[in-house]
Amino acid sequence: MAAPLTATRLLTALRAEGCTVVEHPGWRTHNRDHMGPFGPVHGVMIHHTVTKGTTNTVRICHDGYAGLPGPLCHGVIAKDGTIHLLSAGRANHAGLGDDDVLQAVIAERLAPADDEANTDGNRYFYGFECENLGDGHDPWPDVQLEAIEKAAAAICRAYGWGDRSVIGHLEWQPGKVDPKGFSMGAMRARIAERLDDDNPEPTPPPPSRPPFPGREAFRPGQSSAAIEQLGHQLVKRGFGRHYRVGPSRDWGEADRLNVADFQRSHPQLRGDADGYPGPLTWHLLFS
Ligand SMILES: [Zn+2]
Repeated sequence: MAAPLTATRLLTALRAEGCTVVEHPGWRTHNRDHMGPFGPVHGVMIHHTVTKGTTNTVRICHDGYAGLPGPLCHGVIAKDGTIHLLSAGRANHAGLGDDDVLQAVIAERLAPADDEANTDGNRYFYGFECENLGDGHDPWPDVQLEAIEKAAAAICRAYGWGDRSVIGHLEWQPGKVDPKGFSMGAMRARIAERLDDDNPEPTPPPPSRPPFPGREAFRPGQSSAAIEQLGHQLVKRGFGRHYRVGPSRDWGEADRLNVADFQRSHPQLRGDADGYPGPLTWHLLFS
């Protein structure tokens, strides 16, 4: 049962995701709960406002207009990426949409095309109205897209949902075109990546013998992953005594002295123990 987040939990979730949040006066109790239920909640819906100017946009989304009283969303996502919280309850944003889409969102499946308007979306969805003219020309600044990604991810994370719990209004209600100017598929991919960050795939072990990067890679002033890899392998093989704090990406005298120790220890390398690794030193060190 996905009960709505309390106002405090909603705010905390957004801040924890790194959102810049403004609490609009009275937002905690500004809602349409007297007109119908809010919850169980199953997803997050993204909209564009067809308005210009943040103050104006926030006012309209707070108050609503004739025939559609506010709040018109839970939060306005401004062009500068700030999220203006307007409600923690039922809001007038989603209208009637397609029950098949709702079932897909609940099941975290890719939603089918919306071709019915038979289900009260305001009951089941959080809504973010994003400040944009919606004409396909008004730009979507990076900070705004990032704020959309974070706001949606914050709610998904609070419930343990995946990115398929986030849809655009155009995927819910026949005839709607919002949001226009970016693809919801691309936005979902961003949200998925963000949600994944906490559980990174285990990194595969490095190959036992990495390719020799060339003699020029091991010279004063050089810096690379290969130098650090070489250092770790030297330590592993017992030739790390010249490191004071351990290997780094920067080639230094300690690297050279440790390589020289390794070369002197090896019959095939002893004659040319200058501390600069060539292909044979590399091969034998990683064998
Ligand atoms: Zn909309």
